[in-house]
Amino acid sequence: MLGSAVCSSKLPHPDPPRMRYSIFSLAAQALKGNRGWAPAWRDAAPKAEYDVVIVGGGGHGLATAHYLASRHGITNVAVVEKGYVGSGNVGRNTTIIRSNYLLPGNTPFYELSLKLWEGLEQDINFNAMVSQRGVLNLYHSDGQRDAYARRGNAMRLAGVDGELLDREQVRAMAPFLDFDNGRFPIQGGLLQRRGGTVRHDAVAWGYARAADQRGVDIIQNCEVTGITVQNGRVTGVDTTRGPIRAKKVALAAAGNSSRVAAMAGLRLPIESHVLQAFVSEGVKPLIDCVITFGVGHFYISQSDKGGLVFGGDIDMYNSYAQRGNLPTVEHVMEAGMAMWPGLGRLRTLRQWGGIMDMTMDGSPIIDHTPVQGLYLNCGWCYGGFKATPASGFCFAHLIARDEPHEVATLLRLDRFATGRLIDESGAGAQPNLH
Ligand SMILES: Cc1cc2nc3c(=O)[nH]c(=O)nc-3n(C[C@H](O)[C@H](O)[C@H](O)COP(=O)(O)OP(=O)(O)OC[C@H]3O[C@@H](n4cnc5c(N)ncnc54)[C@H](O)[C@@H]3O)c2cc1C
Repeated sequence: MLGSAVCSSKLPHPDPPRMRYSIFSLAAQALKGNRGWAPAWRDAAPKAEYDVVIVGGGGHGLATAHYLASRHGITNVAVVEKGYVGSGNVGRNTTIIRSNYLLPGNTPFYELSLKLWEGLEQDINFNAMVSQRGVLNLYHSDGQRDAYARRGNAMRLAGVDGELLDREQVRAMAPFLDFDNGRFPIQGGLLQRRGGTVRHDAVAWGYARAADQRGVDIIQNCEVTGITVQNGRVTGVDTTRGPIRAKKVALAAAGNSSRVAAMAGLRLPIESHVLQAFVSEGVKPLIDCVITFGVGHFYISQSDKGGLVFGGDIDMYNSYAQRGNLPTVEHVMEAGMAMWPGLGRLRTLRQWGGIMDMTMDGSPIIDHTPVQGLYLNCGWCYGGFKATPASGFCFAHLIARDEPHEVATLLRLDRFATGRLIDESGAGAQPNLH
């Protein structure tokens, strides 16, 4: 009964806060002792029915809601989140954004994402701390240099910025690296200057606020427990706060995609794996770009608070636990030390894990499903944070128009049946290697 009560469409909804953030609102609040700030979004209760229910209040679900409302005028939308906004991978990642991809299925999609990042703060009136500080991928052998040259050329042909640096150019950017490491000497790097970092949880908060201001209901602490399908067409979802009817249901549950899709009888080409991240104690500015090691999987940048933020490989076995294991901690630290021995002087402050939705080819899925009115957004592997704006933009396009956006036409669910894979790393059907 509780469920049907809170699902009543007659429940009053408080007016959404219409406050616009600016230098003037900041100054006015400072003069008033900061007592006039309105909540960034309403704590909405579920209504009985929506045009679109989005499952998952991570970056992708919230971005989808924002673009549905702002670009397609579809505002009778609920984002249903089992925890709180930002509790999933969107608040757990290492914040790196870039569009330095090789293959046609990925390059235009991630470049659209980078362009959307570049205008995001104006679009959603929220400081997401978009910082285009550059992403530098190191190479350590002639073969790797050739592969990076090929990727850089493919990027430039597609209108994406990329520069191949030699060893001395890399040294000028990052003199602290171990250039003469006995096993992995650094020969140079592929630099994308427009890549960088974005404050991850601010992205979730900013999209949530922007969607809410257009009337979208963001419903937290509400787990989807079932998807109702009649005659091959989706009719709604069951939740821990009661059933919700919906004309369309859009899945954006990232690491839980397989579990949620199974509620509609779908088996996805996805494995769920843990990925860990780490942050050091805060120190003075040491590194002003993002650097990735070319031999092991290791990437590092510095947050505005001064902590070095870094990560490596997934834990290499299937799990839904949001925590990692010590062998991977050791592996990540070894890779870091091989690239930048000075890291050994720092203390690690925190470590955590998130659940990655790994596809068999390492590329994502934004597509219809065999169930009418049920749409799928998943398979983000290590790289879904940078994809957040384009993912939401293209998913909203698909939901609103029932046809894929032009940059997402290859991100199909059936490519695992047809064999038209987008195997960016050339690792084959090995989700643990992408
Ligand atoms: C440690 C780590 C480092 C990473 N580093 C980077 C990086 O540097 N750059 C990059 O591009 N990507 C990175 N990623 C990947 C990126 O964070 C993810 O691919 C991306 O955030 C996934 O999309 P999302 O934000 O929508 O996911 P999430 O934030 O996980 O959102 C999915 C939401 O669905 C909710 N949900 C699940 N099941 C249900 C249900 N039954 N009912 C209701 N709600 C449900 C979850 O609670 C969750 O909030 C990293 C990930 C991790 C874990």
